[in-house]
Amino acid sequence: MPAITNLFRPEIAELEPYTPIVPLDVLAARLGLPVEQLVKLDANENPYGPSPKALAALAAEPHYAIYPDPNATRLRAALSAYTGQPAERIVCGAGADELIDLLLRLVISPGDAVIDCPPTFGMYSFDTGICGGRVITVPRNADFSLDVAAIERAAEGGAKLLFLTSPNNPTGNLTPDHQIERLLELPLLVVVDEAYVEFAGGGVTAWVGRYENLVVLRTFSKWAGLAGLRVGYGLAPTLIAEQLWKIKQPYNVNLAAQVAAIASLEDLDYLLGNVARLVAERERLFAELSRLSGLLPYPSQANFILCRVSGRDAGQLKRDLEQQGILVRYYRTPLLRDCIRISVGTPDQNERVLSALRELL
Ligand code: PMP
Repeated sequence: MPAITNLFRPEIAELEPYTPIVPLDVLAARLGLPVEQLVKLDANENPYGPSPKALAALAAEPHYAIYPDPNATRLRAALSAYTGQPAERIVCGAGADELIDLLLRLVISPGDAVIDCPPTFGMYSFDTGICGGRVITVPRNADFSLDVAAIERAAEGGAKLLFLTSPNNPTGNLTPDHQIERLLELPLLVVVDEAYVEFAGGGVTAWVGRYENLVVLRTFSKWAGLAGLRVGYGLAPTLIAEQLWKIKQPYNVNLAAQVAAIASLEDLDYLLGNVARLVAERERLFAELSRLSGLLPYPSQANFILCRVSGRDAGQLKRDLEQQGILVRYYRTPLLRDCIRISVGTPDQNERVLSALRELL
């Protein structure tokens, strides 16, 4: 009998595993600290959590034994009011992550090319690999702006999809509208990932439908505090949305996620109040981080701040913070080897990370 590994698709067998975040209880056990003492600023989650109305709706929902609405009809109607886009252009998914995967599966056959502009969110290149696609890397400029001319040159080879992220993770900067407009002229699918747009304002959601090749991705994970329930959505021209409907799993967005997302959209004042608090804290945290020697924070329009570390090893700084129960994100990639990313927390959490850094640096 041949080795079972011979049955695996070679592009999957060769793929480096994606490194997700270690669960809180596992980390607490490893550090010997109670979970409540951990300050989790490593995954851009919302420290204020879900809306109380979402929690009440989850507790009151009577139909968990029944499969959810595969069309997420009520959620899409609520999203239509929230985004100003018609429901037929809205596709819901188990997080924006699922939409990234679906879009790639829609257009990428083995060997097809995707343009990726690192440093950026790792799932674009990872999911491209799963499809057997080729990643064409167009690194960002030193200030993390896009190298638009280089993207245009890369597209000449026939790439099918371009991921833009605004605000970008992990660098926090926006992609200016005029650059997105220019890149939409390219003969490929342009996916603008707006996972953090509520922390920035603006965005290009209103452009969906005006261009046949523009898809916008958004999520409830960040502004609405529902990362654990996995609910996101894509805004796409009808011709694209119809194809995404065909290939998605029928029950991809579970009932709890639909119920909580609908209730969140009915509690916008509360949730956007928390967003405003996080934006104010972001600015305070940025100012305080700027005062520390050995740390260069980059201005951010999202709910995290990327910092370049000088004079010491950034990975060691992450581990030193971890010993104190403070979790930040560190990347081993060449472009970010000397950086850490700190998610914006509550004022208390931000004080804890600041005082630990003042001591360590
Ligand atoms: N896009 C970006 C840029 C992100 O940073 C994230 C989350 N880290 C996602 C998409 C995925 O969001 P979701 O939780 O909705 O899958």
